[in-house]
Amino acid sequence: MTDKKSSNVVWHQAVIDRRLREQQNGHKSVILWFTGLSGAGKSTLAHAVEERLHATNCRTFVLDGDNVRHGLCGDLGFSDADRQENIRRIGEVAKLFLEAGIISLTAFISPFRADRERVRSLVLHGDFIEVYCKCTLELCEQRDVKGLYKKARAGQIPVFTGISSPYEEPLNPELVVDTSTTLEQCVEQVMECLRQRGIL
Ligand code: ADP
Repeated sequence: MTDKKSSNVVWHQAVIDRRLREQQNGHKSVILWFTGLSGAGKSTLAHAVEERLHATNCRTFVLDGDNVRHGLCGDLGFSDADRQENIRRIGEVAKLFLEAGIISLTAFISPFRADRERVRSLVLHGDFIEVYCKCTLELCEQRDVKGLYKKARAGQIPVFTGISSPYEEPLNPELVVDTSTTLEQCVEQVMECLRQRGIL
């Protein structure tokens, strides 16, 4: 999967690097990795944080689960191997955004600890902020934003995180947000985390 199949490729060292781009942008770049059950609020929160950042002239980009599966990862399904490859690709894209000086916000269930840790290990310490959107399965199921839990319970979705496929909670996330509270509270928590870490 990660085996390199191309030979004779040499890394070109660009003059315009991440630090110069960050200087131009007026803030540091970072990966905000939102993880949690379907319906926990990853997408809502990532977009709300992006709006706040955009309003203060920060360069941002949201990588959203469903959107990415339309293109970059359109060839992947939901088997464990495909989920692993999905997260690997997103991780590599997020790493490129980091080099581009951009604050990327990724909203993927990313249920497996090992996959998230693999992305973390792609970048330097401090460049990866794992934000655990913590919400009970009961509340996610009550919300059932996309009607997927209903389908999963009816056996129409064979592998569904939280129902028939595990979600491995982060052990040491940089931030835990309780998404049963208000969206505004959660946004503020993420913004405070960025300020404390000197990203903004
Ligand atoms: P996910 O991306 O994790 O699958 P979504 O963002 O699509 O979840 O859906 C989460 C739902 O929960 C939305 O309808 C959103 O309005 C609602 N919600 C309620 N409170 C919060 C909160 N504090 N943070 C995020 N979403 C919330």
